[in-house]
Amino acid sequence: MNKTNINWLIKKKEGLYCIPGDFFIDPILPVKKALITHAHTDHARPNNQFVLSSKNTIDLMKLRYGKNCFKSSQVCKFRENLNINDVKVRVYPAGHILGSIQFLINYKGYKLLVSGDYKRMYDQTCDSYQPVNCDTFITEATFGLPIFKHPDDKEEAKKLIKSVTENKGSTHLIGVYALGKCQRLICLLRSLGYEDTIYLHGALIKISEYYSKNDIKLGKIKSASGKNPEKLINKIILCPPSSLNDKWSQKFIEVIKGYVSGWMRIRQRVKQKNIELPIIISDHADWNEILKTIKDVNASEVLVTHGREEALVSHLNNHNYKSSALNLIGFEDENE
Ligand SMILES: [Zn+2]
Ligand SMILES: [Zn+2]
Repeated sequence: MNKTNINWLIKKKEGLYCIPGDFFIDPILPVKKALITHAHTDHARPNNQFVLSSKNTIDLMKLRYGKNCFKSSQVCKFRENLNINDVKVRVYPAGHILGSIQFLINYKGYKLLVSGDYKRMYDQTCDSYQPVNCDTFITEATFGLPIFKHPDDKEEAKKLIKSVTENKGSTHLIGVYALGKCQRLICLLRSLGYEDTIYLHGALIKISEYYSKNDIKLGKIKSASGKNPEKLINKIILCPPSSLNDKWSQKFIEVIKGYVSGWMRIRQRVKQKNIELPIIISDHADWNEILKTIKDVNASEVLVTHGREEALVSHLNNHNYKSSALNLIGFEDENE
């Protein structure tokens, strides 16, 4: 790590480590004490001894990894004051997926805000991002280039409904990330008046049912497995992106392949993955959202992680911020 304002935060092989609190944030290897921002698999990994996170994240980790994926856990509520050794910790919503939080870590009056993954666009499946004043802000930069400007998510979801209406006799197979994107897309379709049953690949069911149980209204959803492919004509089937091209997908009739991702802005990726219906919806901040957030949190120093670090760092350095790349390994938002 380059020289930063904070000498009590270091990088270890397990991940980002707070010395006075003796804890890691989103560690990539098992540790004694882990603070977890959200349940995506690159941030929340199994086998830590103790996990501190939101109720939803802890539930989702158990759902994905099993009940014994950590020895003990503690649920933290928004804006509750926690003391870990000499460190004060508070959590705030990050607007990324259900249960996603940011950690405000205060040591001797110096405030560090670790945002994990976040976005500013409204999303009915999770609490909206809340900017919090801090001295040092750690931001992701998954879409940290000026070319990334996410379009309106409802307009993107409309493309899918339009395609279903216009292409009678076909089956729409849509790749979505299992946690977050899947449920957000379903909510968007419902808010646009799409009331038909939405069919799900088996890998999407557990998490979607968890969302439903937590008052996120997904309408009629059913498993696609064991269904006669004839019966799925004119329907929407959601599946993990990796299933778009595997054996599972071959049984369906007159398939139109779609993929919901911020990466669908890049034509080369659309071509590479053979996508006929690219839908640009992202759970990450785009370039303008990142810059707006940096202003909103009033930080004097910005540390940048997973993504296009160099572009954002040099932009910030040119605009009177102290900024450097964290260069953390193990974070892949390929499937965002
Ligand atoms: Zn994430
Ligand atoms: Zn991430």
